[in-house]
Amino acid sequence: MRVTILGCSGGIAADSRTTCLLLDDDILVDAGTGAGDLTRDALLRIDSVFLTHAHLDHIALLPMLVNMAGPHRKTPIDIYALPETITALRQHIFNFRIWPDYTAPSVFTRPYLAFRPIGVGETVELSGRRITPLPVRHTIPAVAYRLDSGAASCVFSGDTGYHEPFWEALRGMDDLRHLMIEVTFPDDDTGDASASGHMHPELLVRGLANLDGSRPLDVLISHMEPGREEAIMAGILARAGVFPAFSLKRLERGQVYSF
Ligand SMILES: [Zn+2]
Ligand SMILES: [Zn+2]
Repeated sequence: MRVTILGCSGGIAADSRTTCLLLDDDILVDAGTGAGDLTRDALLRIDSVFLTHAHLDHIALLPMLVNMAGPHRKTPIDIYALPETITALRQHIFNFRIWPDYTAPSVFTRPYLAFRPIGVGETVELSGRRITPLPVRHTIPAVAYRLDSGAASCVFSGDTGYHEPFWEALRGMDDLRHLMIEVTFPDDDTGDASASGHMHPELLVRGLANLDGSRPLDVLISHMEPGREEAIMAGILARAGVFPAFSLKRLERGQVYSF
């Protein structure tokens, strides 16, 4: 399984793209502005999109992806998400006011997308790749994803604050190699972090303390607010000595992870 980071910033700016991960060449996790860097041919290869939640930075380009690829496909693009996320997309985006409802049989002879509701713990297997929603806590219903190639696992947190069941789920994974986790705010902004359901370095350290610190783990920090990356990483690296077996680094656009 190969994960290419198309976007992993908490906001937009030149060279910053919001959340979008490409799995192999046919699956997206979230469809933030990073999706816009794919070529047309690459976009046409996307068969499935797994959404962590309905916030705009994670779904921004989904409507236009479906609009571009839909007419050229024989089958709909599968959109996997929590039922609450699907309801929000139907009500507020694919409603013929913001964007067409590509599932409406009265307008489209064949649907361009298919919503596939999923729940925490329900694994979707696509050509041997196992993708499982994990529990997180955010301001709206949201999930993380475990991406399991059969050889190893990578977990992508999406947006979350500190959530004990998330860390419990990680503790039960023997094959966890990469943990891609959001830390949106620095420690001098804990008020914003807790009001908006996000992490700051102190919470990351609290979470990592749940894991077996003697086993190597690649911890990759995502979703940092543009302009505050150095303060956030400084807060994390100042405490890195507690976890000598863990590698703590920034997740960056353009990186590729194979596992
Ligand atoms: Zn969010
Ligand atoms: Zn976000």
